[in-house]
Amino acid sequence: MNQDTLLQIAKDYGSPVYVYDAHKMETQYKRLTAAFSKVKHLKVNYAAKALTNISVLKFINHLGAGLDTVSIQEVQLGLLAGFQAENIIYTPNGVSLEEIENVAKLGVQINIDNLSILEQFGTKHPKVPVCIRINPHIMAGGNTNISVGHIDSKFGISIHQTPLLLRIVENTNMTINGIHMHTGSDILDIDVFIQASEILFDVARQFDNLEFIDFGSGFKVPYKENDIETNIEELGEKLTERFQTFCKNYGKDLTLAFEPGKFLVSESGYFLAKVNAIKQTTSTVFAQIDSGFNHLIRPMLYGAQQDIVNISNPEGKQRFYSVVGYICETDTFANNRRINEITEGDVLAFKNAGAYCFMMASNYNSRYRPAEVLWYNETAHLIRKREVFEDLTRNQVLIEF
Ligand SMILES: *Cc1c(COP(=O)(O)O)cnc(C)c1O
Repeated sequence: MNQDTLLQIAKDYGSPVYVYDAHKMETQYKRLTAAFSKVKHLKVNYAAKALTNISVLKFINHLGAGLDTVSIQEVQLGLLAGFQAENIIYTPNGVSLEEIENVAKLGVQINIDNLSILEQFGTKHPKVPVCIRINPHIMAGGNTNISVGHIDSKFGISIHQTPLLLRIVENTNMTINGIHMHTGSDILDIDVFIQASEILFDVARQFDNLEFIDFGSGFKVPYKENDIETNIEELGEKLTERFQTFCKNYGKDLTLAFEPGKFLVSESGYFLAKVNAIKQTTSTVFAQIDSGFNHLIRPMLYGAQQDIVNISNPEGKQRFYSVVGYICETDTFANNRRINEITEGDVLAFKNAGAYCFMMASNYNSRYRPAEVLWYNETAHLIRKREVFEDLTRNQVLIEF
């Protein structure tokens, strides 16, 4: 998307606003499927939690992807957006048995990552095929907040518990139709990822009725200039070869599944915010925008370095700014960042704002959550209205004193 278009959207829909470029989602989807084009049965399940706007889900369904969900509400949104139940996988962690049973009733593929829940579910519903989430304990790269492969992680069933896992499956007579992992780490060293895959294959070999192996996600996208990213093409080449060998030995062409969130939508997104005030202190020039971590928390929560462009003055002389918000706590988006000269009223565009940005927005400081716009076929479509005052009061029950 070009900067003039973004500026026009900020004018038409106000700020702050999230903008998503549908074409970029499509490009990413095609890049991933092209890298694995030699795999006979490939399934890309979009991780809904990255961005669940129904119009975005509909677009991704239209691309041909399936859906990866972590809550029954995400399943319901997916069904509403038109995904077939059999194209939805449900990978919860720490939810109640009752919720899992309700999702199973909808015909969605269940993925279980807890031996206690597996035993209870298998005892009650031995006919429902289940996928197993394995923790291969491979850890590399990424942020410790989102790394889920370590030995004390709450995610997945440890490979060291495979004997117990097999015992439960045998005793309940349930069918395991898939093996899954999602380490949550960035895939930067392809060979480390292949190592984790080998561990997964070792587990998979021990089950006779598999239909798919799901390698989760962890695709790293660039966040700033010259940033490292997962080499999808190299991964495609190496994993395809290993997967095909596995299938040959297993005696069946299984489906190879992935569940990317960030990879599909991160770079499609822009967060546009207006500069309310410039404030110069003895050492710093602050640019204060009409937003805060109530709308975009990744820089504060994960230390995410999201590029910021002054789309109102793209040719201006570069200066150093600290970009901060209007929340009554420290809410620094960027420290001492080189940005084209900012004047009050300018619109700043934050890149990589498609994944886990709007989704983590809140009403803190009693501010409204922003509008969302989808740029599709060279046209801007409003896909979520900005909140209004009634949204703040809707569920409150007033009592008299
Ligand atoms: C969050 C999540 C994903 C998506 O991760 P990304 O880093 O956004 O690609 C995939 N699978 C599961 C089980 C998840 O919890």
